[in-house]
Amino acid sequence: MTAQIIDGKLTAKALRASIADEVAKIKETVGVTPGLAVVLVGADPASEVYVKNKAKQTVEVGMASFEHRLPAETAEDDLLQLIEQLNNDDTVHGILVQLPVPDHIDERKVISAIDPAKDVDGFHPINAGRLATGQKALVPCTPVGCVILAKQAQADLTGLNAVVIGRSNIVGKPVAQLLLQENCTVTVAHSRTQNLPEIVRRADLVVAAAGQCEMVKGSWIKPGAIVIDVGIHRTVNELGKTKLKGDVAYDETAEVAGFITPVPGGVGPMTIACLLRNSVVACARLNGLPDPAL
Ligand code: NAD
Repeated sequence: MTAQIIDGKLTAKALRASIADEVAKIKETVGVTPGLAVVLVGADPASEVYVKNKAKQTVEVGMASFEHRLPAETAEDDLLQLIEQLNNDDTVHGILVQLPVPDHIDERKVISAIDPAKDVDGFHPINAGRLATGQKALVPCTPVGCVILAKQAQADLTGLNAVVIGRSNIVGKPVAQLLLQENCTVTVAHSRTQNLPEIVRRADLVVAAAGQCEMVKGSWIKPGAIVIDVGIHRTVNELGKTKLKGDVAYDETAEVAGFITPVPGGVGPMTIACLLRNSVVACARLNGLPDPAL
């Protein structure tokens, strides 16, 4: 079997087009431009690239983009003050503090300071709790992207045995919650899991988010399974050429799986698209409008 590729780039592009339509509708109905504020503390090169891409795509869908770049030595109180200011700013509907923040700043304090209604990363404990209890929430972007991609392979995931590898608060746990909502039977594997290959072999749907380069092997995969690869690893070959790889050994897995997301071009492009989606949803809710159909 050779797996069908689930194209994250194309899916993200279609999602951005729908978001642009929803942005236009909101502008027309209530005269409000959805706004996303991104805060970057310090000059981590990877974070710089993410923030630039986020701002570019925000503007492309017709939203307002606000960037706040603070020096690495910014005091925690000053960052919290800026968040408070953004919480109270009616032109800002989504607030994202680019993580990681420098060591002297308490990440949890920062996340908890964001108004849950504007928490477009979905990391605030209130949003995590709402997701876990099946209430309206803002849901972390990468997990939402994973589920949208899995549904490209099979629109109704009901009854599938899903194995999520990884239990982080930003990927593994919320993916598991979303798959439960999709009526999957969900197993969450992690670094202490015994017999992982055996567990994965029973999965109709695998979401690999362990942060371990090419850990998931083709021999672990049930023929025909849907494989969503969240991992991103920058590798350099003998010739000094950089290549991005995932948590899944792609070539051998693509021989066995029914559907697979590539790296790059799979989950990665969905993350920013889902951030824009969350920002539009937040804006609609803050303005008393129904949730956009995204
Ligand atoms: P993390 O390090 O916070 O969590 C990794 C999880 O995997 C942990 O729960 C750990 O228990 C589990 N794990 C580690 N080794 C394991 C093993 N050998 N077997 C089974 N489980 C194991 O990582 P994260 O933030 O959840 O991210 C996971 C991966 O996804 C990373 O490669 C990260 O770069 C990538 N990522 C990609 C995007 C994207 O937009 N595509 C977004 C976020 C994270």
